[in-house]
Amino acid sequence: MNNNKFCRLEGKVAIITGGASGIGAATAKLFVQHGAKVIIADVQDELGQSLCKTLSTNNNNIHYVHCDVTCDSDVKNVVETAVSKHGKLDIMYNNAGISGRTGRSILSSDNDSFKSVFEVNVFGYFLGAKHAAKVMVPAKRGVILFTASVASILGGETSHAYAVSKHAVVGLMKNLCVELGEHGIRVNCISPGGIPTPMLNDALKMNERETEQLLCSVAVLKGTVLEVEDIARAALYLSSDEAKFVSGVNFALDGGYSVT
Ligand code: NAD
Repeated sequence: MNNNKFCRLEGKVAIITGGASGIGAATAKLFVQHGAKVIIADVQDELGQSLCKTLSTNNNNIHYVHCDVTCDSDVKNVVETAVSKHGKLDIMYNNAGISGRTGRSILSSDNDSFKSVFEVNVFGYFLGAKHAAKVMVPAKRGVILFTASVASILGGETSHAYAVSKHAVVGLMKNLCVELGEHGIRVNCISPGGIPTPMLNDALKMNERETEQLLCSVAVLKGTVLEVEDIARAALYLSSDEAKFVSGVNFALDGGYSVT
């Protein structure tokens, strides 16, 4: 798809955290197809490196960098890598997340597990946004994107830790939208419904087929299922110049589930 008028990210440089798997991997693939230079930041090194090999077109278009999003120096390093390799950073897609093992009842919820969910899903996004902003503010442009969840809108769907963390992401997005808007930086969230990725399969203790069956049974919009590529397409739009006046949005991509 490179070098034609349908390339919506030609010349853009993007970091995708959690880019080795699921939503992040699908987004990395689509961004590369649309002409972006992509850096995948993840802790699953083998998976991330192998995805890079698959997507590489030998023109320096995709790199993998080990990055634990909860570690300040790792996140700083991945932003510095983008700038040293490509001279800038246009898109910071904060997407790495975990569901945690806190369970659904607050009576038995484990304190350390609660903190670890917050550490990855909120502090990790804070660090990603902070280091990206340091580069984007002087450039007077940029896009910061977060993967939240329908759990950022609804209660009672997931563990407390996960729901709280995803609500917090929306708070972070709203604050940054106002704070960074004067520097030309747009900030948005995507809130997917359930998709059978390793994170959700693991949380539900189901295989991919069982997760899909469960999701189909509760879906509002029947006859189709949500796929990682659907989120990637939303990320593509929100990251592209076509969305030049879109900021402060929590885009629910859930087939209507969050209005129930
Ligand atoms: P996934 O398990 O396929 O991918 C998550 C990725 O994040 C993995 O590659 C993992 O290694 C990485 N990651 C986890 N902790 C990390 C850390 N500390 N540092 C760097 N990378 C780390 O799951 P997914 O469904 O693609 O999840 C992506 C995002 O989508 C998450 O934020 C998740 O909360 C959100 N989400 C998922 C669903 C769903 O149903 N799958 C629904 C709504 C929101």
